[in-house]
Amino acid sequence: MPKKKPGRNGYWQFVLETRDKMGGKRMSKEELESYTGKKWANMSKEERKPFEERAQLARRAFDGAKYTSDGLDIAVVEKQAKEAVDKQQEMRKDISRIIKLADCNQRLDQHIFFIIHINYLTHYPAEDKFYICEIAVSAVCLRNGVVDVFHRLVKPGKLPLGFYGSAKTHSKLTHQLLEFCHEEPYEDNTEEVFTEMVSFMKGHTKEDILTVYTKEIILDMTENVIQNFRAEFSMDEKINVYSLEVMFGTLKNTVAGNLVWPTDSTSQNEVEKDVYSYTADISCQFHEDFDISVFCSKSIVTRYGYMICDHCCPDLNIQLVAGVHVPVGVKVPQNSSGVVTNTPWSYSNESGQQVQEVRGQSSTGYEQHFPRLGGSSHVSTPSVVSFSSMKSARNETQPAPGPRAAARLEQSFRAIQVNEARRDHRNLHFPEHGCDKHAKLAK
Ligand SMILES: [Zn+2]
Repeated sequence: MPKKKPGRNGYWQFVLETRDKMGGKRMSKEELESYTGKKWANMSKEERKPFEERAQLARRAFDGAKYTSDGLDIAVVEKQAKEAVDKQQEMRKDISRIIKLADCNQRLDQHIFFIIHINYLTHYPAEDKFYICEIAVSAVCLRNGVVDVFHRLVKPGKLPLGFYGSAKTHSKLTHQLLEFCHEEPYEDNTEEVFTEMVSFMKGHTKEDILTVYTKEIILDMTENVIQNFRAEFSMDEKINVYSLEVMFGTLKNTVAGNLVWPTDSTSQNEVEKDVYSYTADISCQFHEDFDISVFCSKSIVTRYGYMICDHCCPDLNIQLVAGVHVPVGVKVPQNSSGVVTNTPWSYSNESGQQVQEVRGQSSTGYEQHFPRLGGSSHVSTPSVVSFSSMKSARNETQPAPGPRAAARLEQSFRAIQVNEARRDHRNLHFPEHGCDKHAKLAK
């Protein structure tokens, strides 16, 4: 027996269902259509919706469509999955292109990577909008470390009715910014912040398309915020939001010259470990005062910059400098020649211009928006530059090793450096909290 043909649209579905309810006998075709036509005309959008949905489902079923156990159309689910895979591949290709291009131009050490982090209060599903409260972007390059940091506390306007509770819970568990960013008269400074952020990035790169990197777990949220900003404020600048983990892995393999990190898992682990998460004096004044720098956007983008330099600079023979490539206080081996460089920092940007600056100049925005709290901007001053005495000693007293031996030596030096850095970091920030094992290690 042939399948019963479904309604072509919501109205025809309504006609069919009405006829079925009436047994199809009491009215003629004309009477039925006249009756349903009048009824349909008086029905609201909401009342029509179930008929339209049932008509759509019936059409798909008639065409042989299949559904998941949640009632989702398998064809649609598969299409969405394919789009996600394609998007991921496109992103990987573009990250490789950016890094390869910089490498071919022998400017990889000076290429500026922007790392972004956003804290939000709540998500409003009806408009698919995040109400944000803090944003930070760091400009990082391997040669000059964390070059600059943009940071603002954001006032997102009044939260939609019924969403204060979820914002309060999220704030309490993380950044604790709700009371400071959401108070009468519910100011909204998102446009100003977004405009400043774009100018900040354009001041550090000549690329037409801006690319920002963020942790994969918050990539969708970040992309949503940025694309909503662009649409809302009619911004022409295209901004790509890419995975920090993929960029970090690609960069590491490129500077190392081979696939030292064959999968994303190593870069994912490193980002997850977040070894500099308790570094002092890199968060905004608000989070410094509340002693929750771990959730501070400014701290996060700064320490991710340190993490990347820490892993990638030695491969390019770039000496790690405390306060520049790694946090202040992390001991780097002393330079035998005792060379010291200090602020103001000078470097040539991607357009070849000489730039001079003092670190940490970008205002935190804390003073600007919350003057009653008396914030002050943090200046991370680079400490003494010291070149590896071990490497110098090796160069002076021994003949140059073969490539494999050199790689092994490089690895051991690197391991020593990393261990020293971690030990000092631990010592600096947790002197009294270490267990016996760590206390011994620290000595
Ligand atoms: Zn903060």
